[in-house]
Amino acid sequence: GEAAAIGYLANLNPEQRAAVETIDGPVLVLAGAGTGKTRVLTTRIAHILASRRAFPGEILAVTFTNKAAREMKERIGHLVGEAVEGMPWLGTFHATGVKMLRRHAELVGLKPGFSILDTDDQIRLLRQLIQAENIDEKRWPARVLAGAIDGWKNRALTPDKVPAGEGGAYANGLGVKLYKDYQDRLKVLNAVDFGDLLLEVIRLFRENPDVLAHYQQRFKFLLVDEYQDTNVAQYLWLRLLAQRQEGRPQNICCVGDDDQSIYGWRGAEVDNILRFDKDFPGATVIRLERNYRSTGHILAAASHLIAHNEGRLGKTLFTDGEDGERPTLTSVWDSEEEARSVGEEIEQLQRQGHALNEMAILVRASFQMREFEDRFITIGLPYRVIGGPRFYERLEIRDALAYLRCVAQPADDLAFERIVNTPKRGLGDATLQLLHDHARARNVPLMQAARVMVETEEFKPKARNALKSLIDAFDGWAAKLDTLPHQELAELVLDESGYTEMWQKDRTAEAAGRLENLKELVRSMEEFENLAGFLEHIALVTDARGEGESDDAVSIMTLHSAKGLEFDSVFLPGWEEGLFPHQRALDESGRAGLEEERRLAYVGITRARRNARIYFAGNRRIHGLWQSTVPSRFVNELPEGHVTIAEGLGTSGYGGMGRGGFGESRFDKAGAFSSTYATPGWQRAQAQKSLADAQGRFTGRSGSQAFGSTFAEGRGGFQGR
Ligand code: ATP
Ligand code: MG
Repeated sequence: GEAAAIGYLANLNPEQRAAVETIDGPVLVLAGAGTGKTRVLTTRIAHILASRRAFPGEILAVTFTNKAAREMKERIGHLVGEAVEGMPWLGTFHATGVKMLRRHAELVGLKPGFSILDTDDQIRLLRQLIQAENIDEKRWPARVLAGAIDGWKNRALTPDKVPAGEGGAYANGLGVKLYKDYQDRLKVLNAVDFGDLLLEVIRLFRENPDVLAHYQQRFKFLLVDEYQDTNVAQYLWLRLLAQRQEGRPQNICCVGDDDQSIYGWRGAEVDNILRFDKDFPGATVIRLERNYRSTGHILAAASHLIAHNEGRLGKTLFTDGEDGERPTLTSVWDSEEEARSVGEEIEQLQRQGHALNEMAILVRASFQMREFEDRFITIGLPYRVIGGPRFYERLEIRDALAYLRCVAQPADDLAFERIVNTPKRGLGDATLQLLHDHARARNVPLMQAARVMVETEEFKPKARNALKSLIDAFDGWAAKLDTLPHQELAELVLDESGYTEMWQKDRTAEAAGRLENLKELVRSMEEFENLAGFLEHIALVTDARGEGESDDAVSIMTLHSAKGLEFDSVFLPGWEEGLFPHQRALDESGRAGLEEERRLAYVGITRARRNARIYFAGNRRIHGLWQSTVPSRFVNELPEGHVTIAEGLGTSGYGGMGRGGFGESRFDKAGAFSSTYATPGWQRAQAQKSLADAQGRFTGRSGSQAFGSTFAEGRGGFQGR
């Protein structure tokens, strides 16, 4: 209503308001972190709805994650003062792609019930194709090929479009052939992978102008968040939808920040945002400069850091808020002490009345998480891992899902293979090989092949009977698909298949937990209308960040998945050369890689509203080996006046090491925190660590222990400076 309308516009600054109210024609909001870009998008949708310019179904809005989509729906509801019934086209690129593909599956050679493969399925399928070509998989791992195929798909390259020369990188030129085989196989399996969710829609649009025209007319308004991280395929997809139609203006609004482009390694092209006004002539470009998220010191630290990048547009950011607390730098002995230290600080904040939900630990690499998890379990601190190994990726969950997939999608070979002999039914490799040969020869799914073969003499009686009763069971379950509530069906499948029993009989320590997980899985199906809807959700949660847990818990996630989020307190561990910036980024992409890492650091710091706490450990175990480390160059790039050196853990006895290497005196000297990479202080600390390492090797003890003993000797040297 009118009152609500006045309310939501009054909460914006003039530039934001312009971005919300310019609803005709292309609009680009190019602005730094925390300036309200996402808020602008949300309010813009509310404004379009409130001013009756479009119905909810006529707005296509693309968010970066499913969680962001959910939040946006809620916020829009609040803004327009009524529940937004159905914003069916608000979601990630992938979720939107699935929806379109389901409607027009036949036009691209799929059936509407197609499955969506996850990475594991994809690798398993590629492995089969690699073996069929007699390629040495040790030399040419399936994972490498999967990476190449993903890369091509990100760039919207179908097998026939891969530039000559690029396919040669894998298995002496077989890469493109395998890519093609893989696509053919997917069609037989009635399946797509994540990349196809975009590519097949592009193909659909290109080959069916009427379908494209339908969507162009339907969507009166297009909105895209985090535009700096769109890849070529996403870009083409958007371009097709946004094409000018009979003089109709392109009402497309994209928001983003070139300084937060952090998916270059996955094919994102920051150029997409930089050439927006060329793609959409007459675009209104709006810049926002006021940051509403972070306190002054945090903003200054982040701005100073990102200023070290050369390839950037450059932006001014200011805040009218208070300076707040300076970001802290804490040096710790090793990753264990880091976890302990972070744990204690979190508990301290908690005692001061801060909610755990308002705290996050952002790591550069997921292996860093385990240490925090271990620590938090030990001290009983509730946490949730977001975007990491998730519930749905656990073994028993994957098995159970494979059963359900087979019931809903009998052509799903990968699912069938996963469970055909789980629990053990005496269907060995030889049986499976026969099944495979038959299926391949006739180009039919495995289940279909089995159905034919159990009527012949090809199998030994035991295998034949086992297979026959499995098929009968699947037929029985499939017959109940439409009549039995899907939760009950799932329970039935797990019981009758013997899967639940398998874990009940299992004597290992994990079995009980697995049974609980299976129960939880069935429970989680409740919120879905039917099995197909549930399975589709599962296929998409790969992209989800934490599924609506309401309990108060600290979040642990990678820097990459923290994009767009905000927390009162943010912990940033592992600021060490080699880890952050990550060695791989430096090796593979040189200067560009370094700049992307720095943008990641910028994203990390700017997630914080009030507290940003950076850590580096003097020693870290990487792939099981202890290595002594050098503090990240990003540490040296923080502005002196806006950062505080924190005391290490008082209780550890080692906390002083950091103080030695990172002493107050040095910090107090003007310019000590200049952008020079290795200052004398660091070098000395490094020399000390090398010494410890050498001794560790000499005595054959672990680096950690050796460091412990030499440390006492070295410490005097530090403090005596
Ligand atoms: P990022 O680049 O990290 O995605 P963003 O530009 O999308 O950030 P938002 O998340 O939209 O920024 O906004 C950051 C914070 O500032 C949010 O808490 C938001 O509610 C608040 N905010 C934005 N604009 C205003 C405003 N005009 N008045 C008050 N608060 C605002
Ligand atoms: Mg945002």
